[in-house]
Amino acid sequence: MNLPMNSLFSQVETMGHEQIVYCHDPKSGLRAIIGIHDTTLGPALGGTRLWAYDNEEDALRDVLRLSRGMTYKAACAGLSLGGGKAVIIARPEQKTEAMFRAFGRFVNSLGGRYITAEDVNTCVTDMNNVRMETRFVTGVSPALGGSGDPSPVTALGVFAGLKAAVEYRLGKKDLRGLKVAVQGVGNVGRYLCGYLAEQGVKLYVSDISVDRLKEVERAHGATVVGQDEIYGLDVDVFAPCALGGILNSKTLPLLKAPIVAGGANNQLEDEKVHGQILKERRIVYCPDYVINAGGLINVYNELLGYDREKALSEAKSIGNSISAILHDAEKEGITTQEASGRFAERRIKSISELKQMNTLENSGIGRMHR
Ligand code: NAD
Repeated sequence: MNLPMNSLFSQVETMGHEQIVYCHDPKSGLRAIIGIHDTTLGPALGGTRLWAYDNEEDALRDVLRLSRGMTYKAACAGLSLGGGKAVIIARPEQKTEAMFRAFGRFVNSLGGRYITAEDVNTCVTDMNNVRMETRFVTGVSPALGGSGDPSPVTALGVFAGLKAAVEYRLGKKDLRGLKVAVQGVGNVGRYLCGYLAEQGVKLYVSDISVDRLKEVERAHGATVVGQDEIYGLDVDVFAPCALGGILNSKTLPLLKAPIVAGGANNQLEDEKVHGQILKERRIVYCPDYVINAGGLINVYNELLGYDREKALSEAKSIGNSISAILHDAEKEGITTQEASGRFAERRIKSISELKQMNTLENSGIGRMHR
């Protein structure tokens, strides 16, 4: 059957989603959409974004795009997780306990196919409220078995990926004496500065917060530069740790660094166009969702019984993933973003091809007997 291009089934068919759940609780005012993209590798995990979308179509588009992204992120990180995401259509000031408890009941009704977490405009308190209704939630407070601030783990993963990129592009195992420009010294950026400074890296930093800049200047002897100046510095690595969309037609001509390795999400304004420009300029780009997967590794560990040392040690393996992806991209003559996509798809395909071993329990005969 040919479906109209704008139908929901047509969209999920193109993007490969398994299930979309619309959640409505009139009493609490909850209007949410849960997107389960692919559960081949494990239950779909991804945060809940609360946003005042202009219309339902925008909310759906966002949840489809974000949940698909989580499948690739988990696959590249080597986790036994699939990709999912949820959006709640509301303004931050409309948040209530009842809204999140109602949402928790919907999450619970999926029996663990979807596991939620924090995202834009949702916080630990919201996840604690979800936890009252379901165990399929991460990012709760440490008192409820949560993993706390993910930023040091994310930053360590970025650090490991950056090191792998330096070894690949500059042939150096030791970072001593190298220059790194860090854009944004918030949670991830300032921890990254700490790891780099320990290795004798010369740091250049920009931020819109004067206080944060002063802190890294004092702690690590970083040189503060202007918000626009950061792009054109003659450094070895540019590490975006603030906003998305910062690799674009305006900034790319300014870049002198041979490597881009940072924690920010969605760094390429246009994946195809700007990924290709980076490739042509021989600038090694570490795909953002691969290098910043430490936060996901952290909440995955929460599901297993949280141990911070284990989470930190696993985040270091991001260096191996980055290294494999950079070599694959070179071998196949494709962008690193394309190489990470193929890397994820190969892993999902290999697991989906595993032979189903029938037992009485999971066979049709077993179901007839129940
Ligand atoms: P944050 O808000 O703590 O830090 C962002 C910093 O960027 C702030 O200090 C802010 O003042 C600064 N900033 C804003 N605009 C800027 C500009 N124009 N120039 C320079 N600096 C600017 O956020 P975070 O948790 O450190 O996350 C940073 C990025 O990493 C985000 O894109 C986030 O989505 C991504 N990320 C974070 C985690 C995590 O564990 N925190 C995990 C995965 C991805």
